[in-house]
Amino acid sequence: MKLYYDKDADPTALCGRRIAIIGYGSQGFGQANNLRDSGCDVIIGLRSEGRTRAKAERAGFRVLPIAEAAAQAEIVMMLVPDEVAPEVYERWVAGHLRAGACLGFSHGFAIHYGFIKPPSDVGVFMVAPKGPGHLVRREYTRGAGVPCLLAVHQDPTGDVRRTALAYAVAIGGGRAGIIETTFREETETDLFGEQAVLCGGLTSLIKAGFETLVEAGYTPELAYFECLHEMKLIVDLLYEGGISGMRYSISNTAQYGDMTRGPIVINDETKRRMRGILAEIQSGAFAREWMREHRQGRPRFQQLERETREHLIEKVGANLREMMAWLRRERLVDEAEN
Ligand code: NAD
Ligand code: MG
Repeated sequence: MKLYYDKDADPTALCGRRIAIIGYGSQGFGQANNLRDSGCDVIIGLRSEGRTRAKAERAGFRVLPIAEAAAQAEIVMMLVPDEVAPEVYERWVAGHLRAGACLGFSHGFAIHYGFIKPPSDVGVFMVAPKGPGHLVRREYTRGAGVPCLLAVHQDPTGDVRRTALAYAVAIGGGRAGIIETTFREETETDLFGEQAVLCGGLTSLIKAGFETLVEAGYTPELAYFECLHEMKLIVDLLYEGGISGMRYSISNTAQYGDMTRGPIVINDETKRRMRGILAEIQSGAFAREWMREHRQGRPRFQQLERETREHLIEKVGANLREMMAWLRRERLVDEAEN
């Protein structure tokens, strides 16, 4: 594994090169503010009707229409949602990229699956922080950083890796560690993680546990605490000390149940299905399905979202969270500002 830190980068690689950040959502906010504080020349490209425009202006950035921002910059960082990146690129960016310019991403999706095909005289890199933009910002302001992945897809000038490394360092990644990878590896592992484990696997596990208890006649509020609320405590322990570290802190009874019952819930059949999910990611079938769904106005996306919002676990949870005052203090996300 190739790992880089601040000392490995050439900070002058960004000197005199204007950076256009396209999109001011989670990553756009974090990266733009860190770049500016690192002394970079940053402008923001947004749609005129976009809701994030006021936030970028309040933060003191020069905000331009996307096409103008792209035309004025040597480095264009695409930080809009992955499924809209191809249309944004076609309409407002493609025609304004100069030869020798760089196009950057924080996720490999659009490039790896070929939804965006930049001309061969444009450099293409990825700097992907392994955390949401709000954390990227908070850690930077504390003098630290979030680890980043770095990849180069196209290097017509021979200078793109140096640029990408300087970019990763300027957003704080070099304080934590920058790992070199490829667009393919980043994209496929990222999609697999969020589908099978982090988001998909986890929410389905929580719902199945909650439903099992409620269907057996237990109080929904208790089922919520046991299957959702306490997840955070366990995840914090895993985050700090891995599986063994977590087991050190739980009771012996919990640990025995963990070790003997966990493999009954998640078993060889689950792994067989995980391999099926991975195969659909590798073949591009998932990516094509999602882009088709997006183009058709997302009917399935909206229906599934609505179904969960109406699920008992969400109603019970909203009421219980009202009882927990500390949840409203010290929030990482303030929707008005970031
Ligand atoms: P986001 O949804 O938070 O922000 C999107 C921005 O794009 C907003 O400014 C929004 O106004 C704008 N936008 C939305 N639709 C648009 C459209 N149709 N046309 C033009 N602009 C539009 O996005 P994000 O989560 O910051 O993701 C940006 C990139 O960063 C993605 O490639 C994502 O995969 C990657 N990434 C995100 C995270 C994360 O935790 N959020 C982590 C690592 C990488
Ligand atoms: Mg991810």
